[in-house]
Amino acid sequence: MLSTMQDVPLTVTRILNHGMTVHGASQVTTWTGDGAPQRRSFREIGARTAQLAHALRDDLGVTGDERVATFMWNNAEHVEAYFAAPCMGAVLHTLNLRLPVEQLVWIVGHAADRVIIVNGSLLGLLAPLLDRMPSVEHVVVSGAGDRSLLDGSHVRVHDYEELIADKPTSYDWPELDERSAAAMCYTSGTTGEPKGVVYSHRSIYLHSMQVNMAESMGLTDADTTLVVVPQFHVNAWGLPHATFMAGIGMLMPDRFLQPAPLAEMIETERPSHAAAVPTIWQGLLAELTAKPRDVSCMRQVTIGGSACPPSLMEAFDRLGVRVCHAWGMTETSPLGTVAHPPARVAGTDEEFAYRLTQGRFPAGVEARLVGPDGSHLPWDGESAGELEVRGPWIAGAYYGGPDGDPDRPADKFSTDGWLKTGDVGVISADGFLTLTDRAKDVIKSGGEWISSVELENALMCHPDVAEAAVVAVPDEKWGERPLATVVLKEDATADYATLRDFLATRVAKWQLPERWAVLAAVPKTSVGKFDKKVLRRQYAQGELT
Ligand code: ADP
Repeated sequence: MLSTMQDVPLTVTRILNHGMTVHGASQVTTWTGDGAPQRRSFREIGARTAQLAHALRDDLGVTGDERVATFMWNNAEHVEAYFAAPCMGAVLHTLNLRLPVEQLVWIVGHAADRVIIVNGSLLGLLAPLLDRMPSVEHVVVSGAGDRSLLDGSHVRVHDYEELIADKPTSYDWPELDERSAAAMCYTSGTTGEPKGVVYSHRSIYLHSMQVNMAESMGLTDADTTLVVVPQFHVNAWGLPHATFMAGIGMLMPDRFLQPAPLAEMIETERPSHAAAVPTIWQGLLAELTAKPRDVSCMRQVTIGGSACPPSLMEAFDRLGVRVCHAWGMTETSPLGTVAHPPARVAGTDEEFAYRLTQGRFPAGVEARLVGPDGSHLPWDGESAGELEVRGPWIAGAYYGGPDGDPDRPADKFSTDGWLKTGDVGVISADGFLTLTDRAKDVIKSGGEWISSVELENALMCHPDVAEAAVVAVPDEKWGERPLATVVLKEDATADYATLRDFLATRVAKWQLPERWAVLAAVPKTSVGKFDKKVLRRQYAQGELT
């Protein structure tokens, strides 16, 4: 028997329509760096989204599911593109502007991007690459920048504001199949070549609802979220869609991502929430130590993308800001787990330990742990295996390219369709995930596994250590051993022996690194994570001693 319920497609268009009407007065505020932030209501964003869609269709000839790429910072125009492309039936493709040039060129070709909307301030990066991007026919420039950089290029150049200026402010959006592609994003290639993940209208809709649940970010129209996580990094963790669903204000940093302007933004615009990877917050903390500011307006900060060091959580606690740890991937839209401790441990010593886990699975994400022999391991908080997940906002394949079929490499998808995350960890009986490492980062020493993350977290608890990254390096006797690289704080005095002694109080003796290096900075990936590939290469080339 079928149900008697209406079968209304879950589309991004419905999120847009809801946001621009019911929450029409909510705002997107974009930092301009000149003391006068740009403020645009959801209603205005909705009208401009319609104008952009008209321009894309009528002037640029975008039809069907053609790809409209963005090469942009986090700002209001980027939000407009987020809605215009999917709602008209096209596919938004957010380009990671920090990717190595070769990868960027490859990705644009692979996705067959026809249009790129670019911030003028980024033309210096994009323009030299365009002659290697033959699929691109139109470049739409938003904001100030040297447009002469595009002279002589094969593309047609448009100004964003001129393009949309005289267009109607409403659009007769098509009713779309909820399973059709809405947006695509390539993995940032931390551990391999980039792979394209294509989100559906339905997956975005359901993911946005999950983001807004109290067990996730749980924001309302009383909140403003500072969206530091780039819009090109897994749809800014779903925030632009989730905010339109719930009327949450958005504070967008545009290109002002350095600690000083971020601190100023927080102090003057007083967001109640913020989301970013740990390295951003480490930078902000250093800034706040050098120049204290009132950041207590933030009732919650969502940290994910890599493990949140306990020292970072404690530092924020001291500032009166609650850190909420979360885990996810490009392939999981990204929300996978969020660490809200269960009510029964509130106020007890157990609470902090729960907050440090990667978090609890929501109903929409099924999880299992798989051992090296393929067996499914119990959720007992001790049995460690590779995490596999499935659910309505989890990728079931990669984008195979314009002429290819969707790609399902055996190392990324199980034969019964689950996503193999490449993350190793344990799950407690009450559904909390604790990751010990990425499978590729774990240190295999004499048949035992050493967690690089555990060593890093322990090192970062030392008051002289600003950052620590630990990687496996080859060792004749043990196969692999840890190499500890540390960035010391200004005026720090700790030497290797001191740090080793400190570690010895926190981890087993056989795990203590024999090899150490002090760095000026840990190399970072395009999304701000420790780049362990680079560290391993530097060590192999004898650059780290
Ligand atoms: P990339 O794979 O290129 O880094 P993603 O942003 O998709 O791009 O990275 C997803 C990976 O980031 C996860 O598989 C996991 O290894 C890591 N990760 C994400 N959140 C956390 C977290 N809270 N703790 C530890 N690792 C995390």
